[in-house]
Amino acid sequence: MGFATTAIHSGQEPDSATGSITVPIYQTSTYAQDGLGKHKGYEYARTQNPTRAALERNIAALEGARFGFAFASGMAAIDATLRLVKAGEHVVVSDNTYGGTFRLFTRVLANYNIEFDFVDTSDALNVEAAIKPNTRMVFIETPTNPVMIVTDMREVCEIAHRAGARVVCDNTFMSPYLQRPLDFGVDIVVHSTTKYLNGHSDGIGGIVVLNNEDDAAWIGFIQNSAGAILSPFDSWLVMRGTKTLALRMEQHDKTGRAVAAFLGEHPKVKKVYYPGSASHPQHALARRQQKGFGGMVAFEVGSLEAARKVLESVNLCTLAESLGGVETLISHPATMTHASVNAEKRERLGITEGLVRISVGLEDTDDIIADLDQALKQI
Ligand SMILES: *Cc1c(COP(=O)(O)O)cnc(C)c1O
Repeated sequence: MGFATTAIHSGQEPDSATGSITVPIYQTSTYAQDGLGKHKGYEYARTQNPTRAALERNIAALEGARFGFAFASGMAAIDATLRLVKAGEHVVVSDNTYGGTFRLFTRVLANYNIEFDFVDTSDALNVEAAIKPNTRMVFIETPTNPVMIVTDMREVCEIAHRAGARVVCDNTFMSPYLQRPLDFGVDIVVHSTTKYLNGHSDGIGGIVVLNNEDDAAWIGFIQNSAGAILSPFDSWLVMRGTKTLALRMEQHDKTGRAVAAFLGEHPKVKKVYYPGSASHPQHALARRQQKGFGGMVAFEVGSLEAARKVLESVNLCTLAESLGGVETLISHPATMTHASVNAEKRERLGITEGLVRISVGLEDTDDIIADLDQALKQI
């Protein structure tokens, strides 16, 4: 089955009781039991919910995985995944990971004697050098947010697996339509479904998908024990989103390329970060492991004042955090999404005060470009 067919049908057959073409929203906390110890496989809705289960099967199928577990947010999904690591163990992490992930690892989980090392995973030798006898996980994001650094998944997996460590990939930026990390040896994929999977900026959620049975049993145990589950309604919204994922990602990719090309030639733009640009240092690698380049583009305008001018002059683009929705969002990573990363590290990563990030939406390409053009002229 092709991707679009899987997206529309996997996990969501018509309802057996009524024929309802969409999976019903099972808005319930508990289930009537026929007798002591006799029930239909459903006892309590933190543990099992048919709507959530349908979404979990759907996204697992899209990533080519056996198991899926949906959580109340991307961060809850990442937190649950980190419960595979115990006190005294060590995790190697992409240097330029999502700000919330960096905060969870350094400010919360580090308090429980889990050790983290942040390295530039775009060079696999850095991963190799960071591996210790107690390394149990390598956590990567590719491409990274917002400066679009690409990591070679196959190389990192070889190094990690030789050391007995699992590889986790945050695939939020690409979605399974543009990149399937499990095909490159990655063990566990996490998503903020808030972004492209839901795709309509109307819900927060997260998901973990994987193949290993023991690890899946533990993530399922954590999902039920800690209880950060995705609600039935939010599960339903994400399923509605994935039905059009193939179409949406095609268009995000098409407009993303056009916007990156436009910015690359604009006299007010000093640098563009987009793996689809031939000038991107890892363009060849991105071509190899991605089916496209997506709708995330960052660009440098040189100063905070210039960035402020652009951000406050756009009309169609909306100044907001988040990404992956139908509407074009524009943001200032240094003060918004990456404010929790210290200034010295931000500078080293290229997250300067003049950096602007766009999540290219599904409006007409010409309208998006015209809006950016008039805003850049205000500098
Ligand atoms: C948004 C995001 C997250 C966190 O997801 P929430 O749903 O906001 O909790 C994690 N990783 C990446 C790459 C993200 O963009």
